[in-house]
Amino acid sequence: MEAAPEPALETVVMKFGGSSVADPDKIRHVARRLVEARERGVRVVGTISAMGKTTDTLLELASQVSPHPYPRELDMLLSTGERVSCALVAMAVHDLGQEAVSFTGSQAGILTDSVHTRAKIRQITPVRILEALDAGKIVLVAGFQGFSRDTMDITTLGRGAGDLTAVALAATLGAACEVYSDVSGVFSADPRIVPGARKLETVSYEEMLEMAASGARVLALRAVELARGHDVPIHARSTFSEEHGTWVQDVAGMEEPIISAVTHSEDEVLFTLLGVPDVPGTAAAIFEAVAEAHVSVDTILQNAVHGAAELSFSVPREDVEATRSALAKAQESIGAIEIEEVEDLGKVSLIGAGMRSHPGVAAEMFRTLADEGINLRLISTSPIKITCLVGSDEVARAVRALHTRFLGNEADSVPQV
Ligand code: ASP
Ligand code: MG
Repeated sequence: MEAAPEPALETVVMKFGGSSVADPDKIRHVARRLVEARERGVRVVGTISAMGKTTDTLLELASQVSPHPYPRELDMLLSTGERVSCALVAMAVHDLGQEAVSFTGSQAGILTDSVHTRAKIRQITPVRILEALDAGKIVLVAGFQGFSRDTMDITTLGRGAGDLTAVALAATLGAACEVYSDVSGVFSADPRIVPGARKLETVSYEEMLEMAASGARVLALRAVELARGHDVPIHARSTFSEEHGTWVQDVAGMEEPIISAVTHSEDEVLFTLLGVPDVPGTAAAIFEAVAEAHVSVDTILQNAVHGAAELSFSVPREDVEATRSALAKAQESIGAIEIEEVEDLGKVSLIGAGMRSHPGVAAEMFRTLADEGINLRLISTSPIKITCLVGSDEVARAVRALHTRFLGNEADSVPQV
């Protein structure tokens, strides 16, 4: 992204998720929030997701018509969702007495590569956005989509990529970035599982990346990656209240808590490959095939004994089919291997930048889960995350036990590790 021009007035990019615009009342509410910001004297760019579950509905419709929808046409179809919501919000803004204009991704100058359904943003040329802002208008940009100059076609950026549009616009415009949704921020655990979970005031980019990768759904992983790369602080907050949410930003130099959050996801499938030839290039061949199928692999473990290796990795359930075909393809080059699949697994993770300097957290985590009688299927770690794969019916219990042990039950009683 190019360096931001120096705007006269402060600019804010306000992103609203699908549940924030699920019906006409909510659309009018979002319009009011945009107008309030404009009336405070800032330049306002709104980027709006498709209404409610529209994207899911369109995908379902496509699959009813065609078992493998043609990717270019799928993008033509899916990109309409955000176009609808932006146009409706713009109408509601007009009714409140402010000027507004809605743009598709291509009108907004969001240029991508030409990979349909998973395009990457290459550059934003915000000519029309800037013209409209200069004219005092509130600008609505359809999220999750762009345009490829190579093919002259409309692309979409992948599920949940409305957040990515917001961060990319903020980086380009030198704007603040606010991501509004039906949750009021990032919590120390899912409040539906841990009622005493706390809203976190600030989270580092690094922690947020680990949290997004391990099940926290507040912000999309790619958006956090982009925000870190361009140092765009994100304020994740609620559409339906004025309260402050969570700041995701660079917190270097600040005292970091040892453990910030417990995250989880259900519906993981563990693939174990047995009898993998223990020679250079086999793991590369396997994961090249898996990457080509755009499968998001999180946890990989390999162990070699007596000339053969055993390789395990977990994938979200929705990627199982793609993983199977990728493995079939890999076997064409590395030869036949034995493949086992274990379903009904879930992941629980402890996240905390402070654990880097505190050894012993892993042992404490395993002890806590052992005391609950929970068996660990796979363990993996990063400097600021420890993840365990457990049975999916044990996930909620594991999250509660870990939250109690490391973060306490009450907002004010944080036990020492
Ligand atoms: N509408 C798209 C989706 O549901 C993008 C987004 O909401 O962020 O995946
Ligand atoms: Mg959505």
